[in-house]
Amino acid sequence: MPHVDTHCPYCALQCGMRLDGTRVSPRAFPVNAGGLCQKGWTAGELLRTGDRLRTPLLRRDGVLRPVGWDEALDFVAGRLAGLRREHGAGAVAVFGGGGLTNEKAYLLGKFARVALGTPNIDYNGRFCMSSAAAAGIRAFGLDRGLPFPVTDLAGADVVLLAGANPAETMPPFLQHLRGADLIVVDPRRTPTAEQASLHLAPAPGTDLALALGILHAVVAEGYLDKSYVDTRTGGFDEAWRIAAAWWPERVERVTGVAAADQRRAAELLAGAGNAYVLTARGAEQHATGTDTVGAWINLALSLGLPGRSGSGYGCLTGQGNGQGGREHGQKADQLPGYRKIDDPVARAHVAGVWGVAPESLPGPGRSAVELLDSLGRDGGPKALLVFGSNVVVSAPSASSVQERLSTLDLLVVADFVLSETAALADVVFPVTQWAEEDGTLTNLEGRILLRCKALDPPPGARTDLELIHGLASRLGQPAERFPADAETVFDELRVASKGGLADYSGISYARLRSGEALHWPVPAEEHAGTPRMFLDRFAHSDGRARFAAVDHSGPAEPPSAEFPLQATTGRVLQHYQSGAQTRRIPELNVVVPEVFVEVHPDTAARSGLSDGERAVVRSRRGETFARVRCVASMRPDLVFLPFHFPGKARANLLTNPVLDPTSRMPEFKVCAVSLAKADA
Ligand code: SF4
Repeated sequence: MPHVDTHCPYCALQCGMRLDGTRVSPRAFPVNAGGLCQKGWTAGELLRTGDRLRTPLLRRDGVLRPVGWDEALDFVAGRLAGLRREHGAGAVAVFGGGGLTNEKAYLLGKFARVALGTPNIDYNGRFCMSSAAAAGIRAFGLDRGLPFPVTDLAGADVVLLAGANPAETMPPFLQHLRGADLIVVDPRRTPTAEQASLHLAPAPGTDLALALGILHAVVAEGYLDKSYVDTRTGGFDEAWRIAAAWWPERVERVTGVAAADQRRAAELLAGAGNAYVLTARGAEQHATGTDTVGAWINLALSLGLPGRSGSGYGCLTGQGNGQGGREHGQKADQLPGYRKIDDPVARAHVAGVWGVAPESLPGPGRSAVELLDSLGRDGGPKALLVFGSNVVVSAPSASSVQERLSTLDLLVVADFVLSETAALADVVFPVTQWAEEDGTLTNLEGRILLRCKALDPPPGARTDLELIHGLASRLGQPAERFPADAETVFDELRVASKGGLADYSGISYARLRSGEALHWPVPAEEHAGTPRMFLDRFAHSDGRARFAAVDHSGPAEPPSAEFPLQATTGRVLQHYQSGAQTRRIPELNVVVPEVFVEVHPDTAARSGLSDGERAVVRSRRGETFARVRCVASMRPDLVFLPFHFPGKARANLLTNPVLDPTSRMPEFKVCAVSLAKADA
């Protein structure tokens, strides 16, 4: 094939790249302007990885053995039908992923609710973006990661990044921040924090208190944009009643961030001509994640930033289709178009598109962690179908997840390699990967991108859409109800999304192929899209944004005598999510080949450890073995582990599955741990 212009298979920036065979080169595209990170540069190697699955695998006598597609599809459909007959439709569950294309996310949601009739579908985006989504909807009536194009950030004077480390997670993004003073909120001195004018390092789990302290300083120092607050927002008085009790000196005692630095942050933001507040996983992955993001939004609102040209608030989404993945129905509580599943009008519209009765659609299902925890229990699902996710590495309290999977009657995994989760399955389907199929993704700025097929998949691999089509047909569904062609699915998605918050009805493959920059909503074919939102009004019925009345409560699991330290988890430059892809790229893996635990030298010494030694990190849920990396800038009360590694190196053996009550996101970012020599 000739070269194909496409997009990176990894993160939500969705950098533009050119593929010539499997050779990658960067191309000019607004979000990356010709830049790529190491993951992007090496993405072509993923297409040549030596351990591609080329045939379905079926477990017999405890061993996964190659079988044909028909045999595997017949087997799975037969088992699903049997379990549904015996235990009801809820006996089958589906787990999706934030990297799946819009078409896959849409068809998977429809497959679960129509072909399986189960409410039990959720996805791994619940782990990484649901708190920002919940906070955004509460504040603005609508959630779109960045409600403005990334390129607008180039005009910023000051940008506050709360819990975001783009220098490692999406390096080309930083070029848009070159002209700005950065205020970075992160308990670690990350590569992003290194570039900051002001680095605020709160104690883990106290970010919400820090946001309250800066808001207090904004009001006390006279920086409040009263005219904006009066005309464009509601709820300030209730929010301020709480924030008034969090003056900077009190916040300093809780967070460890100097009161003077809190006031400096307020001064920098207020003095900027153009300013932005951006949040990411560090703010979200808490048992109070929705309120923590809400506190940062409150700060932005107090300064009149959201909906002001050249300023704003936004969330840096994480996974490649983190935004689109949550809009089209693979979330337990939503239908396509970002509609609520318990809204009768939404149900009637979507049921009409799907050709079924509204009352036949199941209601809300269990969220991701609750779904995984219910597997094999009384009344819980007995079969799980996993698409685009590696939950035994990426879910919190990973050993519990693995134990729940072992109780299932049937575990089915679709993947292009034998991931750690696929290795546990009863049936594995070999599917295509990014450059071997057509599909759309929605990047962090709500721009819909067409990723075209650039080369043929290996013989034996099929697309997820073909897999869903094959299963649905065997479950008695009309073949045309589950098309296997991506453009046909997208055309149906357009109709299903029409009138919803995320309205794609005016977008077509033809428009995307022509290079149009289409940011949703795009409610008609002649509509040019909506790159900037909220300039005139917010999406609540009165057009106003809402302050959230939020208060600090701290992490769910404070340190104790047995577990005196706190652990936080995150990503490194060379790896992506569970590492199933990047651990297969030699140039990346050679740089970071194993898990490490970053720790202050004094903390290491107190545990009898020095740099390079093997340590065991323990929490109430398990233990992880990691190589010590002494870092002088670390807080002495904190350790950090990347979560990309399998087996006993899984950081998620430690993490706390306690959930945010609104978003149902687990608290990946802080749990109590101990540190010792590995042989102790
Ligand atoms: Fe890919 Fe993200 Fe790196 Fe860009 S920043 S090359 S999209 S991983």
